[in-house]
Amino acid sequence: MSSSATGPAPDRCPGVFATHQAADGRLARIRIPGGVIDAAALDALAAAADEFGDGAIEVTGRGNLQVRGIEAKRVDAFGGAVNTAGLASDADHDRVRNVAMSPFTGRVGGLTDLRPVAQNLHTRLVDAEWSTALSGRFWFGLDDGRGDMLARAADVIGAAVDVANSVIVVDGVRVGEPVAHSDLAAAMVDAAAVFAEIADGAWRVADLDQERRSELLDRLGPSDVAAPDGIVPESRVGWFTQTDGRVLLGAVVPFARLTAEQARFVAAIGSPVTVTPEREILIGDLDEAVADTVVRVLAPLGFVFDARSPWTSLTACTGAPGCSKSLADVRSDLGLHVAGLDPDEGPPHPEHWVGCDRGCGSPARAHVRVLASSDGYIRTTRGD
Ligand code: SF4
Repeated sequence: MSSSATGPAPDRCPGVFATHQAADGRLARIRIPGGVIDAAALDALAAAADEFGDGAIEVTGRGNLQVRGIEAKRVDAFGGAVNTAGLASDADHDRVRNVAMSPFTGRVGGLTDLRPVAQNLHTRLVDAEWSTALSGRFWFGLDDGRGDMLARAADVIGAAVDVANSVIVVDGVRVGEPVAHSDLAAAMVDAAAVFAEIADGAWRVADLDQERRSELLDRLGPSDVAAPDGIVPESRVGWFTQTDGRVLLGAVVPFARLTAEQARFVAAIGSPVTVTPEREILIGDLDEAVADTVVRVLAPLGFVFDARSPWTSLTACTGAPGCSKSLADVRSDLGLHVAGLDPDEGPPHPEHWVGCDRGCGSPARAHVRVLASSDGYIRTTRGD
């Protein structure tokens, strides 16, 4: 919950400048609007992770990036490097830039290309004075009609309903009239502004009490516009032919942890990179021959391009020693578990291994939670 009898709890969601103290040092989260990062920025972030952090970049469950293990006295220098790379805004707006997007949009399938809307939304959020009232947990989703973002619990979603128009969905409820894609960013920011006016300390729409939730939905207006159903997406790991005939490659890395060296190799390709809430790394706009070379170079470095790999469905929280709350070194244990699997059996049912019941990083899709306890691991089913 975001509030208590003594008032709203402080929002400690980390950002570039407001970092989180973990057992292994300060943790900085870098918002990547729409999950899109260009090659130069990725290269700069790899250098910053190497110089100031523990030498790796982690992909988060909202399609953002984070760097761990930063010494407290070097947080400012890290923030400066990230800012210079164009990956932060002013400190007041840094944590409100939470924009996730259908990762294939504009390249493979979908009703429209929402990449310009993501950029527009980001600009509007950073330019608005009031938006600093949003918590670092409030997030926007853009769904290009395929349903993958509608399957996520974003606070305000803009969802394409045809090639020209979108509808707005607030915490699962469709509101207002359809808007042209070109007006979508403004309409989503307006909806968030109404939330900010009545939030009274609530971090997210789901945190509102019933009275405030009703007020929010009344002010935004009911909608009878049909929206696509939310659909848990198929794996984006592998080789995909884009609408323009070029190739998009999707990969995962174990524990969604990209070493600085791996990140530099990706950046050296020079193509735009998209990270997804399913922790995939997409490299787009490749000619076929280049894509073939990329697979040959990156696979030996630890990138997994095979959608049947266990690493496409098995994830873990940080665990010990990075997190002091953990009862186990869950990543090492998961690594041993994966080493014992038969690779010919294909990907197992999704599992998320965690060191305590906070369940950090739990995937949105149905999965088995594998929870460390003093008596070993306990398995429970989560979701459908
Ligand atoms: S789930 Fe628990 S052990 Fe794992 S990172 Fe979160 S707080 Fe730490």
